Order: sequence, then C-alpha cells, then structure tokens
Amino acid sequence: METLKKEILNCTACDLYKTRNHAIWGEGNFNAEIMVIGEAPGADEDRIGRPFVGKSGQLLDKIFSACGFTREQHIFISNIVKCRPPSNRIPSEEEVKACLPFLLKQIELVDPKIIITLGATALKRLFDNPDLKITRLRGKWMHFDKYLLMPVYHPSALLRNPELKKDTWEDYKQVVYKYRELVDPDHYSAHIPF
Ligand code: SF4
Repeated sequence: METLKKEILNCTACDLYKTRNHAIWGEGNFNAEIMVIGEAPGADEDRIGRPFVGKSGQLLDKIFSACGFTREQHIFISNIVKCRPPSNRIPSEEEVKACLPFLLKQIELVDPKIIITLGATALKRLFDNPDLKITRLRGKWMHFDKYLLMPVYHPSALLRNPELKKDTWEDYKQVVYKYRELVDPDHYSAHIPF
C-alpha cells in the first residue's frame, strides 16, 4: 500500500495532476473490512490532502459514528479518481480510465468484506455501466467481483436534499447488520440494536 501511495502521489497519468494541490490516495485501516468509495476529492480535500474532510465528509463521519465505525479501525476510504476535477465536475471517462487501476489495486490490498459506494458516479464508474441508477439500486446488496457491495447516496446529496437521510440510514443499518453477520457479531452501535 505504501508503494501504491507513492505512485499515486507522484502520478501524472491524466491531466488532473496539473491542477491538483494534493493527490488524495485514501485514508483508514489497510486491513479494514469495509471499504468506502467516493467519486473524487473536492476543494477542501484538495487543500488539506485528506479524503472527505469538507461538509460531506463531516456528515459521513457522523453516520459512521452512529454505526459504531471509525476510519481508524473499521474503514478504508478512497475515491474513483484521486485528484480533484476542476470546479468539482464529474471526472471524464479518460480520467477514470487512467485512475481506476489504483482503486482496483487498493480493493485487492485491503480485501474488505463489504464495499460501500457513495453516489451515482462511484457506482457507475466502478461497474463501468452508465445505466446503473442510484435511485433504484441504493440499499440493495450487489456483487462486485468477490465483494458484497452496498450503493448509498453520496453525503453531498443528503446535504442538498435532507429527505434522503431517512432511506440512507436504513441502508447503513443494513451494512451494520451485515458487518455483525460477517465480521463481528458483537459490533456495537448505540443506534442499531442487536
Ligand atoms: S486522477 Fe489519478 S490518474 Fe489522474 S493524475 Fe491523479 S492519480 Fe493520476
């Protein structure tokens, strides 16, 4: 993972390297059983050099905390592309094609039990299928390679539309139940009874 991290931090494989302040390679426990995949770093992440540290990231951490998860122990978090697309535009096909091998390698190295994709772009790009609809697939278990995968709304969508929070909480509850089933039957969440 450290070798991969160095490769990502020095990568110039697509034009996003020209406008980045930091390549955001990922964060969390390399041996985590949950891997969380977002779309791309935003302005705060690019400035600070860590993934999901802006308002979306703070909301995500609140949700993780309610589930009894921490980045340090339970989660490794990364993005489809590691450098910020200017003005937070959706990453282009070429950019995703250049960057996705890093993420696939990270998945292989972390080898989680559960993958969570955040939002439509992460879902479509990971499966390389532009027809996948987050509104239809959120909350439904899918398979990506040998991994169980739960698509959920991106936290920025929850900030724009708080009405999505209720459904999203149900999706995260499923993740906690699955974590108890596959990893730790005693996993504690103050908000999700056994
Ligand atoms: S987005 Fe990915 S492929 Fe493009 S420069 Fe950054 S690390 Fe390299």
